[in-house]
Amino acid sequence: MRILALAFIVITSGCASMPPSPPPGSPVQQCCVCKHRRDFACLNVRVTPATPRAVYEGRPYYFCGESCLCEFQKNARRFVPDAGR
Ligand SMILES: [Zn+2]
Repeated sequence: MRILALAFIVITSGCASMPPSPPPGSPVQQCCVCKHRRDFACLNVRVTPATPRAVYEGRPYYFCGESCLCEFQKNARRFVPDAGR
């Protein structure tokens, strides 16, 4: 079990902007910027009140960090190819 816990820490610490201790049981969304980049280390985002988010075309999107939020706000259509259809 200790090896598993260590591996988990190594994987999650790759994402510097992850909240330090997300509350258990909070919903998980995918960071659409990381999905677009195939950056799977930061793909899953736990939704907390502190999670960076944006609403685009009436739908909420969640991000693993402020940098992904900035990228999304610069060119949201790039990361949401089916928006506006
Ligand atoms: Zn991201």
